[in-house]
Amino acid sequence: MNDEINIPVSLPLDADGFLRRECPNCEEEFKWFSHAEGDPDAEQVDQYFCPRCGQGAGLDSWWTPAQLEYAHGAAAPAIDDFVNGALDDLFKGLNSKHLKVKRSGRYSSGTPTPESLHEPDDMVIVESPCHPNEPVKVSGDATDRVYCLVCGSPFAA
Ligand SMILES: [Zn+2]
Ligand SMILES: [Zn+2]
Repeated sequence: MNDEINIPVSLPLDADGFLRRECPNCEEEFKWFSHAEGDPDAEQVDQYFCPRCGQGAGLDSWWTPAQLEYAHGAAAPAIDDFVNGALDDLFKGLNSKHLKVKRSGRYSSGTPTPESLHEPDDMVIVESPCHPNEPVKVSGDATDRVYCLVCGSPFAA
């Protein structure tokens, strides 16, 4: 049995194709542009820099609390299916000529299916001079000092 499950959870983008993010360091929100898969403009990096405070963090560190809650709920049915499949296998393995076991009922974690997230079209687009292929959105009063998402260089929009 493979003990790793991958559950794709899609998060909503705003009308310009940006995804809301929260910095694990300063906890300010911003958005980065969500490139389509295989987009040659997408920078290959192993960390991003916060446009608000300039601190770097790994690619998986930028979830907003609402996104985490949503992902948890959206993944629950797949996790339930996975557990049920594993339990079925286990019970099948217990069966023999002399022993018949059958489990009744179905496992459920009881996590409610979440309301879909709504992404408002707020914030303004800024492009760093060094990496204009990776634009970000920050709130309108934060554009006079922004850090490049890719390399962390400060710039004024
Ligand atoms: Zn930050
Ligand atoms: Zn840059």
